[in-house]
Amino acid sequence: MTANPLSAHLKALIAADGPLTVARYMREALLHPEHGYYTTREPFGTAGDFITAPEISQVFGELISLWCAAVWQQSGSPERMALIEFGPGRGTLMADALRAARIVPGFSGAIDVHLVEASPRLRSLQRETLADTGVTWHDSLETLPRLPSLVIGNEFFDALPIRQLIYRGGAWRERCIVWDDHSDAPRWSDMAAPDTLIRQMPERAAVPAEGDIFEICEDGRLTAGAIAQHIALHGGAGLFLDYGHGKSAYGDTFQALRRHRYVDVLDAPGTADLTAHVDFDALLASAAASGCSCFGTVTQGQFLSALGVEARVERLAQEASPRQTMTLRSSARRLIEPTEMGTLFKAVAIAAPEVDALPGFGPPRSL
Ligand code: SAH
Repeated sequence: MTANPLSAHLKALIAADGPLTVARYMREALLHPEHGYYTTREPFGTAGDFITAPEISQVFGELISLWCAAVWQQSGSPERMALIEFGPGRGTLMADALRAARIVPGFSGAIDVHLVEASPRLRSLQRETLADTGVTWHDSLETLPRLPSLVIGNEFFDALPIRQLIYRGGAWRERCIVWDDHSDAPRWSDMAAPDTLIRQMPERAAVPAEGDIFEICEDGRLTAGAIAQHIALHGGAGLFLDYGHGKSAYGDTFQALRRHRYVDVLDAPGTADLTAHVDFDALLASAAASGCSCFGTVTQGQFLSALGVEARVERLAQEASPRQTMTLRSSARRLIEPTEMGTLFKAVAIAAPEVDALPGFGPPRSL
């Protein structure tokens, strides 16, 4: 392992507080105010560590905007509606969405833009990207306006810290990170798992085998529940796209990406993006418990196709050079092809309880 400033901090933390849960490790590695990944790095794009859908194609943000506009109309075209994005990254999705919003009469003028962003560095990037727009930033949901709301998030939930349970010798233990003095590096160790964590496993989980891992994203569940509460109270809907599994299942999906390559999650903390697959069932169960109707999952490919991705690309192509047309088509394909982002990435939505249909989704689910 490469020695780095965050490692020194983690070593001290473990010496003071004992083993770290995966969640604590993720939080420190991603958001430490001085050495955290999101605080110090430029993660996005070909020169960064990974690339996200809005950075691949402008069509992504445009279609999400049209989805929002349809929900605004479905809600009776209120005079004011909040457009709230969680984890906006560089602000690209929002910039594309706001440009497309102008096409729908009355929509642009009705929306109030709010961003929930934890990283001060990314906030300043978002400020640059959205310089012409009135934007309000928030640390958390508590300060969001009490307005009917369109809530969106792309690759937000995968960045939230998870905890891992591991099945060993007939019992669930918690996977934690300790300091190995011999190699002077962090390493894995299993600890007793608190009952409060074990109780969060689904009731109908399959019988586990030795070594099975179950991941629980407490922050994700709490955030999904709180967003749902906000929507149930004030009206509107939420749309979330991410990679993950539609059904809760066993498996270790904790991963680190550096320069578009998978690396060891414990290697050089703070210098790689750490994520885990999203357990959409668990998020929707929280939203349902907070009184929202729930939709999905549908694959990103199905969702974008239902919203008319191909027609949108061909319309843009009419005013583009042959070279631009090629890029437009190939980047859209990247978003929807099953072998690219079309199947692993999925969409879910939640809405106020009386809403029984949303664009791009089948009927609401019972959870
Ligand atoms: N939506 C963007 C960025 C995805 S990366 C895109 O698709 O390109 C994850 C984003 O979530 C980053 O902006 C990161 O700073 C933000 N984030 C991570 N944890 C957060 C938290 N707890 N609260 C708010 N934002 C968070």
